[in-house]
Amino acid sequence: MTRIAEVIVDVPLLQTDKPFSYLVPSEFSDMISPGMRVHVPFGRGGRLVQGIVTRVINSLAEADDYSQNLNELKEISELLDVEAVLSEEQLALADEMRHKVFSYKISIFKAMLPNLLNSKYDKLLTKENGESIRWSTLNTKEQLIAMKDFHSGNGAITYVAESKEHRKTEKFVVPNWEALEVYEPTKSSKKRIEFRKILLETDKKLPFAEAVAMASRPIVNLFAENGLIKIEEVEVSRTTNFFSDISSDRAKSLNNEQQEAFNQILRADSEKTFLLEGVTGSGKTEIYLQIIAEALKIGKTSIVLVPEISLTSQIAKRFIARFGEKVALLHSRLSEGERYDEWRRVKSGEAKIVVGTRSAIFAPLQNIGVIIMDEEHDGSYKQESNPRYQAKDIVLWRGKFHHAKVILGSATPSLESRARAERGIYQLLKLEHRANPKAQLAEIKIIDMRQNLSDQSANFSHALLEKISEKLIKHEQIVLLLNRRGYSSFVMCRDCGFVVKCPNCDVALTLHMDTRTLNCHYCGHREVIPQVCPNCQSRKIGYYGSGTQKIEEELNNLLPDVKILRMDVDTTSRKGAHEKILKAFGNGKADILLGTQMIAKGLDFPNVTLVGVINADTSLNLPDFRSSERTFQLLTQVAGRSGRAEKHGEVLIQTFNPEHYAIQLSQRQDYEAFYATEMNFRRALAYPPYWYTVLIVVSHKEEEEVVKRSYEIATMLQRNLTEKAKILGPLAQPVARTHQLYHYQIIVRFRFEERLEDTLNQLLDWTQLAENRDLRVIIDFDPMNFV
Ligand code: ADP
Ligand code: ZN
Ligand code: ZN
Repeated sequence: MTRIAEVIVDVPLLQTDKPFSYLVPSEFSDMISPGMRVHVPFGRGGRLVQGIVTRVINSLAEADDYSQNLNELKEISELLDVEAVLSEEQLALADEMRHKVFSYKISIFKAMLPNLLNSKYDKLLTKENGESIRWSTLNTKEQLIAMKDFHSGNGAITYVAESKEHRKTEKFVVPNWEALEVYEPTKSSKKRIEFRKILLETDKKLPFAEAVAMASRPIVNLFAENGLIKIEEVEVSRTTNFFSDISSDRAKSLNNEQQEAFNQILRADSEKTFLLEGVTGSGKTEIYLQIIAEALKIGKTSIVLVPEISLTSQIAKRFIARFGEKVALLHSRLSEGERYDEWRRVKSGEAKIVVGTRSAIFAPLQNIGVIIMDEEHDGSYKQESNPRYQAKDIVLWRGKFHHAKVILGSATPSLESRARAERGIYQLLKLEHRANPKAQLAEIKIIDMRQNLSDQSANFSHALLEKISEKLIKHEQIVLLLNRRGYSSFVMCRDCGFVVKCPNCDVALTLHMDTRTLNCHYCGHREVIPQVCPNCQSRKIGYYGSGTQKIEEELNNLLPDVKILRMDVDTTSRKGAHEKILKAFGNGKADILLGTQMIAKGLDFPNVTLVGVINADTSLNLPDFRSSERTFQLLTQVAGRSGRAEKHGEVLIQTFNPEHYAIQLSQRQDYEAFYATEMNFRRALAYPPYWYTVLIVVSHKEEEEVVKRSYEIATMLQRNLTEKAKILGPLAQPVARTHQLYHYQIIVRFRFEERLEDTLNQLLDWTQLAENRDLRVIIDFDPMNFV
């Protein structure tokens, strides 16, 4: 019987955003299954494109696509997988995501797979006798036999990358003992005699580097040329090193608060979502670890999502210390190859616990018992490029699919989640004390910068400088946060006030002293710092603002002996740089850790007893309804870095807005009061979580064009949506031009709007029209940023 496969092709256009039917050649018909990748002829020319099988059916009558008839169907030309790379669960998830993520199905599929599977790769066939053969070297008939073997349980097939940079190999020297026995080096060649002896005495292969160290490279080569040894290249896992230098640890006995929360979670029926609201250092992570241990006991797997890599390294270590090689790490700092290795360990069932950032939520785990989202309020869980998904939605969806327990943890939950807990959709669990009874929450002081400006410095108040000196004498450590969002250093002419701006974007360029350049943080444009003002030719170029580099310089002047480690995008761009800086700070190599937002989270250093916030305000002044929430979260998080062990912790917050509720309430560390206050604003102004928002950003090279088209879009929305939806704009974006494009935005707000999905799909459709090709339209459901 002829079978038919429905395939989503890798051509991201709306017309192709639906399955196309293809005939399955009879030799594949037993093996094909949904989730496999195929090559199919597509379009008039019949060029081969990659696609994903979404369904296999027995007759065209079952097909979604009635437009085709059987004798017009083309055949699948190649089956790329022996095992589905996407599970039934993932296929169903993609269907679901498509309702809220306005990008094409194929982009959603691709987001679920490691990049390598979207590029070149090969398969390695391992026979029962252990012999390995590259798939691409087999002819079609041989491949078919291999597939049959595989499906009947004989032999294994694993995927390997085609290109070399994606694989890590190590060279070994394998002694040919028989040849070595009879080999007689001349008496004068001591090294050869010795090397022969060593080889004869070992009974296994030696790492190549070791052999070279013992004998020298020419001698190793000579031995190889004479058949005395064989040099062998073996593929190795890239991630094992990370595991080997972490010492293991055991479960701590939980305190009463932790025990209560733990019991609630453990005893609950499956399929329940918890909001674990626990002050910083209250032992949330310890609860996660023990809940996962319980899941493991009953044979279930777990996913733990964490926001960022600076955090991942510390938190990942705690999971590895507890669960060893059962853990797989999936985060954005891995190379493509590493990511692929880890994905395979998950897919094969070898790894039982996935710890990772946003996209780790797609990890191909089966039988999930628990999904944990740590720092659930964090903005990085929303993907800011296509497909624009919110990982939390997927956490909840997969939780339901697996009847798993879901734990959303935070010291400062998002208003959305806290409101859901209020309505009983999530069960609220609170931890109000630090886990270590000797570690009290830090004492927080607010410094009004309007009255407290030091004559020495524009950035440091007397109080903060004094406090820093006091801690230095006691050999305690200090964390200094520069709240950099919407703020950075720039150059300005002291005579005419001219500011150097990016030629592509409507923003001032940021000063980078290490490279002596002015950089654009939007488009990456760089230029040298001008010697004379481009406007009036004056030589009085002034450096303004307080980038981390400038603060570091200033501190070095004010306190000449102090040792500072700086952590920001400039010092952490290289792989492993985060870890290095944190390790050095942890080992007491510096007194002060100075950094941007990235130091606020997760760090756990017992000797830190002072946190200084240099400028609390910058994030308050952004034109974004979440600016208060962000500021409160940031200040609470960073305050939580102080006094985590026995020593008393202090926090000094410098601000020009000391009366602002976000600052006042973060001083009291009173999340509940902040929640109540902020909810009132949100209700009054019709913002989330009371109303949903969709942000539409329209961009074009010509300002006139972008205005015209965004009005067309607004009219289209007006016409199609019901009166229940409010449409705001079009308005120029706060940063009106970047990457040589002008940006206008339209915001749609609604509580219930049954016409939304259709309308937005129509809009997506409209963007595909030939006359709109040079227009860029972003549809962002529940956007995290408006700037
Ligand atoms: P959170 O995740 O809420 O910030 P952590 O789990 O990191 O808190 O705990 C903070 C500190 O307290 C860590 O150093 C941790 O090892 C320790 N800790 C957590 N639970 C306990 C416990 N029950 N007994 C002793 N120490 C604990
Ligand atoms: Zn000038
Ligand atoms: Zn730019």
